[in-house]
Amino acid sequence: MTGIITLAHGSGGKTTNDLIKNIFLKHFRNDIILKSDDAATFNLSGKLAFTTDSFVITPVFFKGGNIGKLAVCGTVNDLAALGAKPLYLSCGFIIEEGLPFDELEAIVEAMGKTAKECGVKIVTGDTKVVQKNAADKIFINTSGIGIIEDGLNISGSGAKAGDRIIITGTVGDHGCSILLEREKLEISADIMSDCAPLNLMLEKISDKFKEIHVMRDPTRGGVAATLNEIAAQSGVGIKLYEDRIPVKDQVRGVCELLGMDPLYMANEGKMLMFVPEISAESIVNELRQNKEGVDACIIGEVINEPKGRVIINTITGGNRIVDMPVADQLPRIC
Ligand code: MG
Repeated sequence: MTGIITLAHGSGGKTTNDLIKNIFLKHFRNDIILKSDDAATFNLSGKLAFTTDSFVITPVFFKGGNIGKLAVCGTVNDLAALGAKPLYLSCGFIIEEGLPFDELEAIVEAMGKTAKECGVKIVTGDTKVVQKNAADKIFINTSGIGIIEDGLNISGSGAKAGDRIIITGTVGDHGCSILLEREKLEISADIMSDCAPLNLMLEKISDKFKEIHVMRDPTRGGVAATLNEIAAQSGVGIKLYEDRIPVKDQVRGVCELLGMDPLYMANEGKMLMFVPEISAESIVNELRQNKEGVDACIIGEVINEPKGRVIINTITGGNRIVDMPVADQLPRIC
């Protein structure tokens, strides 16, 4: 498709309807959205999980994905983090006037494809167009609903002393790839975002969900921020072992060069899990059977003291505190 988005595409008239038909319905095609009513309808019963997230990443296209794929993965992963089976998504688009159609279509196509891959339906949406410079290309909000098996209670407040901490793969890939794209650095590193939906991998270990105390995806602020949140929420201490944390050589190299710490870099296809020691090895082995989990490993454990703190045992043998990041080291990372 050629041409650009104009204010008329957000007017609610014929131009809007054409856009909906030719781009959104084309790629989101499913029985519910095709009814084109004011609201999507479906039957659900049981305990539900409901979440929302807005995506403002720049650049909108990056190695390993784009803002559309990210918007679906982000919401799907937040539902999956509670042990929920993600079912339905909504999407709201705020588009800057002038965005080329082919860019919008590539983004929407990625959303449709990712939703299909992870078995969710995009069932309702909204489009607004704002004047040039009132937004930056495109912002997307996705909300999602998932269903949780009865009796399951995975929560950030569930960590217990003795729990082992699992990461499902290498740390810092997304943040590092965006940093490289954005800064146009003359570093010949071929680092890709890890942006991926994790629900299918997690579904395969769903018979173990009752053993999992905490699951959370270490996105903005990275593993450091997420573990600090969990330590505070659960009122426990966390001990990490630096030599066990998987970091790709290229990511480590770029971080060293720029004085960044991979522990603080965002991930978009990783999950942290807190599980009793007795279950940890078998969960890691099952995760490793999946392409999103080949590098899964145990990186630390929960301790009684100091409460609310994350400590790292460094490669050189000392201990240091891993603080909550104070400011965003890389704004608009997701
Ligand atoms: Mg999350």
